[in-house]
Amino acid sequence: MIPYSSHTIDESDIAAVSDALRRAMLSPGPDLTRFESTVAEYCGARFAVAFSSGTAALHAAVHAAGGREGDSGITSPLSFIASANCMVYAGMRPYFCDIEPLTMNMDPAALATALRSDTKIVIPVHYAGVPCDMERIAALARTRNTTVIEDGAHALGALTQNGPVGNCAFSDMACFSLHPLKSITTGEGGLVTTNQPVLHERLTLFRSHGLVRNANNRFPDEGPWYMEMQDLGFNYRMNNFQAALGLSQLQKIESFISRREDIHRRYDQAFSALPGVIVPHIPEKIRSAHHLYVVRFDNAVIHADRREIVESLRQAGIGTQVHYVPIHLHHFYRTRFDCHAGMFPQAEAAYASMLSLPLYPKMTDDEIEQVISGFSDVIRRATQ
Ligand SMILES: *Cc1c(COP(=O)(O)O)cnc(C)c1O
Repeated sequence: MIPYSSHTIDESDIAAVSDALRRAMLSPGPDLTRFESTVAEYCGARFAVAFSSGTAALHAAVHAAGGREGDSGITSPLSFIASANCMVYAGMRPYFCDIEPLTMNMDPAALATALRSDTKIVIPVHYAGVPCDMERIAALARTRNTTVIEDGAHALGALTQNGPVGNCAFSDMACFSLHPLKSITTGEGGLVTTNQPVLHERLTLFRSHGLVRNANNRFPDEGPWYMEMQDLGFNYRMNNFQAALGLSQLQKIESFISRREDIHRRYDQAFSALPGVIVPHIPEKIRSAHHLYVVRFDNAVIHADRREIVESLRQAGIGTQVHYVPIHLHHFYRTRFDCHAGMFPQAEAAYASMLSLPLYPKMTDDEIEQVISGFSDVIRRATQ
């Protein structure tokens, strides 16, 4: 069975982790500091802070932005639940705004009408690795003094005309996930990049219980043991050997993305002529991180429902997934925040007609061919 996605770990990654396990410090340690500075440089940001997961990174970013009870925030409904949960953790009220159907990213026009007087944070999601229109989103957010946090979980390695995603050219912070299925992995892990020293300090404190050493004589000196908790925090730290894996993976990110790009191009060539299939749209002048290959079906042409297509593909050895059940349709959001079907028609229509096909760097040429012929056969049968 070809999975819809998979990690890519080679012998050099294994050697890097083995070396790190022999060091004096398991967590944190020298590899962590080096991983953070290397990521910051790769993204073109002043700072990067590593976390135990992408979800922890988003939670920390919301905290650093000062999000709290009484505040609200807006994210895309067509995302992984963590994009909204991070605001709920902080006691905030999450709202959503609809997507633009071509890129399936947050629609700036929808954001303009969704902004409220209590909107503290906006979290655009770079869906499938395609960067959002950050310039327009940031311009809207500025009119309300709203903090902009990019959910770049799909987009480490994506490029825009204003530089790499993560340089925070039009945001306050950018968050990334290092889960096995993302651009690069540390097993579990996450990152926040920022250019603002105050945010960098808050993120670092939040990661480790809010404990402060007595730098600059901030409090009375009771002795060398003394640390003071100055803010509520968590244990959201990343291990040193995970950071060693991250450093090793980061060296390969360009080859990972170009392999993903190559597979994407081959799928486009094979599938753009298939009846009833709409291939993913990548805007000009950007480089997608190609996290997902999401096709959409035209149900006027295809006479099979998606469950049947998924089942036929499974029988042909091809794994698929749907990204995502819109967040506002999850039980928790319907019951806790009065969400219901019909609120975000574009996101709901996208969900109803989409399917993610296998895409990951270590796919072999044979596996790519198997997906191309298997998917083409299933679609031809479904359109006869
Ligand atoms: C993966 C993902 C996250 C969460 O990252 P974890 O590392 O799994 O906690 C957040 N947002 C989006 C859009 C994701 O795809």
